[in-house]
Amino acid sequence: MTEKSGERQGSGTSGLPRQMGLSGWVATGSSPRPWPELDTKQTADVTIIGAGVSGLMAAQRLMQIDPNLRVVVLDADQSANSGSGRSFGVSHFLPEHLGFGHASGGSLPFDCCGIDRNQKAIAFMAKCAQDLGLPPHVFEVAPQVWGAAGRRGRRCLADIAGYLTASSTPFEWLDQTSLGTMTGSSFYSQGIKCLGASNLQPAAFVNAISEHLGKWARIYENSPVLAFAKESGGWRIRTPKAQISTHKIILTNNGHIEQFGFATRRLLHLSRYVSMSDPLTKEQSIAIGEQPRWALMSVDPLGFSMRRVKLGSDERLVVTGGTSFHPSQETSPMRIRNASWVHERKVKERYPQFSDLRFAHHWSAMRCFSRNGGVVFGELEPGLFGACCHNDMGITKDTLHGMAIAELVVQGGSPLADAILKHPPPLTLPPAPLGALAVNTGLLWNEWRAGKE
Ligand SMILES: Cc1cc2nc3c(=O)[nH]c(=O)nc-3n(C[C@H](O)[C@H](O)[C@H](O)COP(=O)(O)OP(=O)(O)OC[C@H]3O[C@@H](n4cnc5c(N)ncnc54)[C@H](O)[C@@H]3O)c2cc1C
Repeated sequence: MTEKSGERQGSGTSGLPRQMGLSGWVATGSSPRPWPELDTKQTADVTIIGAGVSGLMAAQRLMQIDPNLRVVVLDADQSANSGSGRSFGVSHFLPEHLGFGHASGGSLPFDCCGIDRNQKAIAFMAKCAQDLGLPPHVFEVAPQVWGAAGRRGRRCLADIAGYLTASSTPFEWLDQTSLGTMTGSSFYSQGIKCLGASNLQPAAFVNAISEHLGKWARIYENSPVLAFAKESGGWRIRTPKAQISTHKIILTNNGHIEQFGFATRRLLHLSRYVSMSDPLTKEQSIAIGEQPRWALMSVDPLGFSMRRVKLGSDERLVVTGGTSFHPSQETSPMRIRNASWVHERKVKERYPQFSDLRFAHHWSAMRCFSRNGGVVFGELEPGLFGACCHNDMGITKDTLHGMAIAELVVQGGSPLADAILKHPPPLTLPPAPLGALAVNTGLLWNEWRAGKE
């Protein structure tokens, strides 16, 4: 970021999001309505920068609170190509790292009451999905299921059970037989299931929300914000072909908020990898059990998780695993290739009978974490708001913080926004290049420790 004539400038087009690999969700989904590129001067009450789940949910909440607002949503790319649209698509109400108090010798998450808020976010998404009549393969309230294969995994499950009991969250133990019935694999020896999460076809979900919002807000894609500056009565935003004068800005551009000088050297940009199989054959589909859609999360956040999805008439496996740290927010085709080999090997371990199952799509995208689970949330400067860095609760926190930032912008606050404002900001990272090396070595070590999981 540089400041020139009072402008907060990004690092030009070199710093804009660059996604690797065609996402299977986009490749197998229907073509979304394309939004135009911003090429005329505009005015707005609120301009949202970033049309992933955080930005779209912020817009949705703004529309509910004050339908008379003039809102513009800008994205550097397309909604479906955001990290949100390229994600694994499982929205949790409990943190992924819940079982890690035991395994890592650390303590359980500080934010026990967060469960209520997370469920509020999932209910908000569910209401959107219901109002839009989205089919279950695009959005479905579903159980959160963890599966463990080995001893370490089972110790993590015991930790999760302790946490769920302490927080009075109902749950059910799953044995090898019931996990086998669900997944068609005898690989997992024990699991836990609790109700109240949701599974999404993430690209279709964000496309549906943006299509709906587009009847009210002005949405522009392929319109990266290059800079913004204060002007009388608000802010002036600059994109490659036009400008917007706006009273308020909401930054929902996740890790790219750093490029405008916020939370610099505090955000961990972690690339995550996903693969989607070819359509299952009839035999594979029968072997994989009767339940048409399911998601099984590894107890280890650096482990391997899988879903069975039905997209149109095709059934497929979607799997995720592998994480690498990239301060530049850009991974490489080699990393995707390596992750895809690991994915294929892990699927073979779970389904040795599927020797002919091939994978059609491999892709990655960046996630944004902080060392201490801290978030970027609130009024960063007068009239300039941010809701970024949602750590391992991804889609759920994107939704929650999107809703809350809209409440802060229009109402000046709310119980939800007040609760999030209590979260600590992200802690500073160790200096690069030692930082990158240290983080990637730590990730490799922890992936190795995840072992079978
Ligand atoms: C591979 C992968 C799998 C994941 N799986 C899960 C999962 O199963 N469950 C879960 O809960 N979470 C998951 N996540 C995390 C989740 O996807 C993120 O939390 C989410 O993407 C963050 O949403 P967001 O809207 O804040 O940011 P993003 O979705 O990253 O959207 C930010 C948007 O800002 C835009 N932008 C950036 N800079 C500019 C600019 N200068 N001008 C205009 N626009 C800009 C980008 O183009 C992008 O569209 C996963 C993430 C990845 C990468």
